[in-house]
Amino acid sequence: MIDHCGREIDYLRISITDRCNLRCIYCMPEAGVCTMAHEEVLSYEEIARVTRLMAGLGIRHIRITGGEPLARMGCLDLIGKIHAVDGIETISMTTNGLMLRGRMEQAKAMGLTALNISLDTADPQTYRTMTRGGDVCAVLETIDQALACGLKVKINAVPVRGYNDEQLTDLAAMARTRPISVRFIELMPMGCGANLEPVSTGEVEKKIEAAFGPLLPDDSLHGYGPARYVRPEGFMGSIGFISPMSHEFCGACNRVRLTADGYLKLCLNHTAGLDLRAMMRGGADDATIEAAIRDSIEHKPVRHGFLEDIGDREVRRMNEIGG
Ligand code: SAM
Ligand code: SF4
Repeated sequence: MIDHCGREIDYLRISITDRCNLRCIYCMPEAGVCTMAHEEVLSYEEIARVTRLMAGLGIRHIRITGGEPLARMGCLDLIGKIHAVDGIETISMTTNGLMLRGRMEQAKAMGLTALNISLDTADPQTYRTMTRGGDVCAVLETIDQALACGLKVKINAVPVRGYNDEQLTDLAAMARTRPISVRFIELMPMGCGANLEPVSTGEVEKKIEAAFGPLLPDDSLHGYGPARYVRPEGFMGSIGFISPMSHEFCGACNRVRLTADGYLKLCLNHTAGLDLRAMMRGGADDATIEAAIRDSIEHKPVRHGFLEDIGDREVRRMNEIGG
């Protein structure tokens, strides 16, 4: 699908739950607050139907996210259902990694091709603080298991001033001896993230360069997203930067999102979209839904507008949208 800006939309991020076993400081309030009742959340059959219709319209890459996707029972079976859809070329998952230990082979057999594991620090105490209780050793084990079974692995880290900003080079060092990408994502001022202080890509890059020397551009294909990759001399893996705030990349945006309650979101920061759950549960046929999706994507917002006064700013939290 090509939108009104000429952008090819071939990537769908599917949030399958708003629930999570962690409470990361920039994502969820300490008390949790999961707002979706069981019947509000799309069933796996409904998700598979949306995937099939969207694959027919040109979606090729799927990411399963949440909340924590593995907090929903049957998550790996859903991967199998999506894998069976004609036209889908890659299925990746964004996860905190804690509930995937020991299930890697099964996930791969179901059709998972890549894993993004969120890890903001390798330091046990800081990890516990930032996630409000997580055990970093378990995440490190998951990373090693994923690599051992041949999955492509990326680490997602959000630098936050006063929390992990002095530990970023330790995290980057994980890519020295492992074939992984460690990616630093600028904190976005959404939900709980709005009350924390970001660290810009420019600042992170300087710290990494000071620690490891010149950062050589790495233009090999890492995925289908907006990250820019570099590789310090002698590194087996690479370092990535995702800079929605300091280097807006909306002109090359290729994605839309499906929330756990079935809303097709056209842009992270805008409410514009389409209530697919209402259409499906209202009895709409495939052709009607396809036409509505096509029309909706045609009107995808031009840019996120985080730094502007846009009218329809998103109020959902990241755990509801899926990042
Ligand atoms: N629970 C899974 C996980 O943590 O990987 C998937 C869902 S989580 C909402 C997806 C991604 O969103 C994570 O990598 C997280 O770091 C990121 N995220 C959450 N809130 C954010 C914010 N305010 N700014 C930037 N990234 C954020
Ligand atoms: Fe949970 Fe992921 Fe949000 Fe952390 S970032 S609270 S792991 S949904």
